[in-house]
Amino acid sequence: MNIIKAIRGTRDILPEEVSYWQEIETTARNILAQACYQEIRTPVFEQTSLFERGIGTETDVVGKEMYSFVDKGDRPITLRPEGTAGVVRAFIENNLYSSGGVQRLWYSGPMFRYERPQAGRQRQFHQIGLELLGSSDPRADVEAIALAADLLRTLGLSKLQLSLNSVGTGADRSNYRQALVDYLTPYQSELDPDSQTRLLHNPMRILDSKDERTIAIAQNAPKIIDFLSDSSRNHFDQVQQLLSDLGISYQLNHCLVRGLDYYSHTAFEIQSTDLGAQATVCGGGRYDGLVKELGGPDTPAIGWAMGMERLILLLQQQRSASLSQPDFYIVSRGTSAEAKALIIAQKLRHSGFTVDLDLSGSAFSKQFKRANRQGAIACLIMGDSEAATDTVQLKWMKTQIQQTLIIAELLAKTTELTQQLAENRQ
Ligand code: ATP
Ligand code: MG
Repeated sequence: MNIIKAIRGTRDILPEEVSYWQEIETTARNILAQACYQEIRTPVFEQTSLFERGIGTETDVVGKEMYSFVDKGDRPITLRPEGTAGVVRAFIENNLYSSGGVQRLWYSGPMFRYERPQAGRQRQFHQIGLELLGSSDPRADVEAIALAADLLRTLGLSKLQLSLNSVGTGADRSNYRQALVDYLTPYQSELDPDSQTRLLHNPMRILDSKDERTIAIAQNAPKIIDFLSDSSRNHFDQVQQLLSDLGISYQLNHCLVRGLDYYSHTAFEIQSTDLGAQATVCGGGRYDGLVKELGGPDTPAIGWAMGMERLILLLQQQRSASLSQPDFYIVSRGTSAEAKALIIAQKLRHSGFTVDLDLSGSAFSKQFKRANRQGAIACLIMGDSEAATDTVQLKWMKTQIQQTLIIAELLAKTTELTQQLAENRQ
């Protein structure tokens, strides 16, 4: 019989990985709650027109990547490719603006894009994102960026780089567009096929190309920041100043235009040098026109989204096995020893240690092999002679140093054990 497999571009999140998901979710929830952001949950599918209107038909996401279908009532439906359009629809539909002031919202959940699956790129993936609606103040831009940086830092991720650009207003962009087209036209035949088409409809998208030759050409293109109005320029200067005041470093990247059409003013990405081709973990920016475009009141806003799978790849790389690595692996054999081993396991767990108890009853050598495979930092060994004297052997795997301890003593010296565990982590 044929075995039914998961659909291409989707994957199971198995128990060994789930602790990373929970850690990111908990960390994000805490950091965002501290900044007074409230969670919002919107449906995973929406009317196709929401994304066409919100994201723009010229974008990769709408042009090529949408999971769209017609339901039994002949309604054009799309599985959400991103979170912002749905949040904005909910903001308008539920009059969230009626209380005035700003709305600070966050979400997490699955997103769907019909892309070529590869490491860090799937058809069902997950994002965690934030939207700050109702403020055009540059402090709002910086608050959003700072929270993304806080989350990544709290997770312990390093080697990250913040890239920043301003894409100005619609008027700034139409000034810029002609200069860009004039520069790119002589190179038309050297551009990748998508970019050749975009030269007519949406030349700024060319700056976002992933084709090597196109990227090289785009490097010397005129820069949008030289075409900003005084007020757009002022907004961008203030964002940069406030980032510096908070000690957040960044690099300007004039090719950063982001993949969705609704951005204005600040656009940013956070990239890792450890992720290869799929380097962007967080993307975001200001989208002052979107709420109005979708039929709501004129409402400035800024937001970002992080790719959970890419965050997890990074966490896994940076911590290698340390999260699933037990502090203690308990090896035991013999009736009385096995009973005492269970008690030790529970007591150590109650004291906050991670403990793996071998239940196999197999030879000591086999149990030790498993302890090594699990990456245990220390083994606790209970045989007949230990059971008879209420002692236990403590063996540090890194140094192979072994000592005999009275069980009650072992259980009493938790502070010392914590310190020794830290020293013995590989
Ligand atoms: P990319 O340039 O990598 O295609 P994007 O600009 O399409 O990214 P956004 O729409 O800004 O991505 O989404 C924000 C984040 O969501 C990305 O930075 C990435 O971490 C994640 N992401 C986007 N598409 C996928 C996908 N197909 N699989 C996994 N993660 C994704
Ligand atoms: Mg993409």
